[in-house]
Amino acid sequence: MKKIGFIGTGVMGSSMVKNLLKNGFEVNVFNRTASKAKALEEYGAIFCESIETCVNDVDVIISIVGMPKDVEQVYDLIFKYAKKGSICIDMSTSSPSLAIKLYEEGLKKNMGILDAPVSGGDIGAKNATLSIMVGGLKETYEKVLPILECMGTNIIYMGKPGSGQHTKMANQIAIAGTIAAVNESLKYALEMDLDLNEVLNAISNGAAGSWQMSNNGKKMIEKDDSPGFYIKHFIKDMDIANNEAINKNLDLSILDIVLKQYKLLQENGYEDLGTQAIYKYFELKLM
Ligand code: NAP
Repeated sequence: MKKIGFIGTGVMGSSMVKNLLKNGFEVNVFNRTASKAKALEEYGAIFCESIETCVNDVDVIISIVGMPKDVEQVYDLIFKYAKKGSICIDMSTSSPSLAIKLYEEGLKKNMGILDAPVSGGDIGAKNATLSIMVGGLKETYEKVLPILECMGTNIIYMGKPGSGQHTKMANQIAIAGTIAAVNESLKYALEMDLDLNEVLNAISNGAAGSWQMSNNGKKMIEKDDSPGFYIKHFIKDMDIANNEAINKNLDLSILDIVLKQYKLLQENGYEDLGTQAIYKYFELKLM
């Protein structure tokens, strides 16, 4: 299993490919905007002009694209062109029900399908320190564990197909509350004429500390909106989590409020900014 087909070389995928290459894997790369895959040639990746050429001679296929509709499009072609017996790992954040559907389709084609979304952001992808939450058959997971270990450090098998995506939804629900709370905390400190950097120094190592506070809090203060994690992708995740919750008659009121805040940002043209741009919510409310 030394040759991998990799689809989706955006913010996350391009770093993950570099880490696979560093570990001696041969990697075919394909991306919708070809230039993003071509840029990986200088690191040793093999650029492919189609999904067909990316997947037809490999044993393992990894995808990390944007939305569930992108995952569906990509898998239509993977199922058409991949070898029987190959293993596909979808690392996009996507819907649990789609993950189950792909697993079932894979069974018919004699292919193993895992849902393995990640957490840790662009920084985790660069440093190969991602958390990876995996759903699917355990025997399939065990076969590809050495590959996942090149991209992450906290790799957890969660159970049946769809469990990886459900775990990721639990992660996104927690992030929604945390990032919105960091935003409110900094807004409060600003209104009380405190030095925001000193506030972060004071509180980020105490009981309120979090990844969101340490990484995105500083960006909020500096008004650095560059995307590590796009607002449009976070809205997609919160919508998926919300729908799953509704199906279980579960009231996730904090998620609901944060989703509304981000949708207001989206309506104002901010969907391609990083999630830390939530601080703009207060600016929009004043308008
Ligand atoms: P991104 O930069 O938009 O990367 C996605 C890549 O997939 C893009 O380069 C896109 O091509 C490509 N793509 C989309 N549809 C495709 C298709 N049908 N065929 C081939 N390529 C296709 O986004 P990202 O930040 O890397 O995120 C990727 C996934 O990981 C998302 O599901 C996101 O929610 C999840 N995620 C992101 C982070 C983060 O911090 N960034 C963290 C955890 C999970 P184009 O260049 O043409 O758009």
